[in-house]
Amino acid sequence: MPTSNPLYDALFAPLADRDSRLLIQADGSEVTGSAFHALIARAANALRAAGVQPGERVAVQIAKSPEALAIYAATVAIGAAFLPLNTAYTPPEVGYFLDNATPRLFLCEPAKAASTAEVARLSTLMTLDSKGGGSFGADMSAAASDFTPEGRAPSDLAAILYTSGTTGRSKGAMLTHANLLSNAETLAGLWRFTSSDVLLHALPIFHTHGLFVASNVSLLTGGTMIFLPGFDLETVLRLLPQATALMGVPTFYTRLLDDSRFDRAATAHMRLFVSGSAPLLAETHRQFEDRTGHRILERYGMTETNMNTSNPYDGERRAGTVGIPLPGVELRIMAEGREVAQGEVGVIEVRGPNVFAGYWQMPEKTREELREDGWFITGDLGQRDADGYVQIVGRAKDLVISGGFNIYPIEVEMLLDEAPGVLESAVVGLPHPDFGEAVFAVLVPKKGETVDVGAVLDGLRDKLARFKQPKAAVVLAELPRNTMGKVQKAELRKTYAEWFKP
Ligand code: AMP
Repeated sequence: MPTSNPLYDALFAPLADRDSRLLIQADGSEVTGSAFHALIARAANALRAAGVQPGERVAVQIAKSPEALAIYAATVAIGAAFLPLNTAYTPPEVGYFLDNATPRLFLCEPAKAASTAEVARLSTLMTLDSKGGGSFGADMSAAASDFTPEGRAPSDLAAILYTSGTTGRSKGAMLTHANLLSNAETLAGLWRFTSSDVLLHALPIFHTHGLFVASNVSLLTGGTMIFLPGFDLETVLRLLPQATALMGVPTFYTRLLDDSRFDRAATAHMRLFVSGSAPLLAETHRQFEDRTGHRILERYGMTETNMNTSNPYDGERRAGTVGIPLPGVELRIMAEGREVAQGEVGVIEVRGPNVFAGYWQMPEKTREELREDGWFITGDLGQRDADGYVQIVGRAKDLVISGGFNIYPIEVEMLLDEAPGVLESAVVGLPHPDFGEAVFAVLVPKKGETVDVGAVLDGLRDKLARFKQPKAAVVLAELPRNTMGKVQKAELRKTYAEWFKP
């Protein structure tokens, strides 16, 4: 039986003796490392008192707070697997996850307890609010502030994160201590995080970006986090002067750029801006540099693999690319069973210590996507430029096949984004009686401008082969996005499904 607990020992155990601040909250109040460690101990004792055994799951659908982060740490510490759920999920959706994962304990907000009780079935249901109140909060307050962690092997599960499931039902990605720790170590080194860093943390902690990339890297390096419940522009601008680094989704950056107070002076003290989870427009990258003098560092990853590639810290951060594979991560681009030539598009596969252990209780799905020799088929389409920088071209399932020809939406989107008055666009394939699928574009106008659909489509005539040109387009005030800023193409396909029907 191992006596160490890899993730807990590296990230959380050192906090016990740390008197300096670990978390800065929106109201300016601070939580020291040792105070946070006491919260972890209380949470661990409360989890054990609720009957959670090593190897079991603890599911949570709770607001982001120091207590919520401590429950993540405590779950890992007692040898269970942490299973955070998007706070936007409705009770029937939550029911699916609970039936699939059968957690011993499910924590939800007190206000949702009644509506969730019905779907919690086999799990013990307890509550926690954003201020540490609720039945589990009360147990935490009453619990002792010392405990002994459970021994775990590097290959033991630390977390199960469900994929966002834009097609089909979402799957629970099983992440081990070694997966999470190796990725945090790699990113911390590559991005030069140290104990002097203050990370502005405005991401949700139910997703790999906020929970692992942001929190784990900062915790591993002994840094401080400005720990905000969400991205509120005023709060972010107010607290930014205390930060040295920001990790965000692209919408954080477009929202900051929309505000004239965000300029060179406001960011002069910053060391690093990282973007990921959705494509950062090359245009946003350029605007950001013009306004602040900083080049955003874009990286690419996913729930199943943690992070795979990153632009360099030193060296060129190339707009429109996600950089090169991380140290220790292998990446190949495949089509028809073999690696494609440089510059050609194929499906990205990755292998390394970052790659998950499979989908929870879905051996068939695991076999379909995770090869026996360790290569994971990401489902992302990509290509490499001559210097090895990877560009994501879209999801394989978003590929449009019209009249037998393949169309990569991003190629069309990039041209549309340059059209007069267009801020951004999304291209999808819709059912078409003659072509099977037809290219369809959704255009979002720049603030205060109008878009002439006919003129935009005419403008593509000389630039794109005819089969790639959208057969129709509509203008929308904004694209449908999920909380991580990803455009919901499935939703667009559904909304406009009848467009070309006779
Ligand atoms: P998730 O599992 O929710 O983190 O989603 C992972 C997916 O987000 C990836 O498979 C990509 O399709 C997309 N993604 C993540 N980072 C980037 C990026 N920098 N550029 C483009 N797509 C990205």
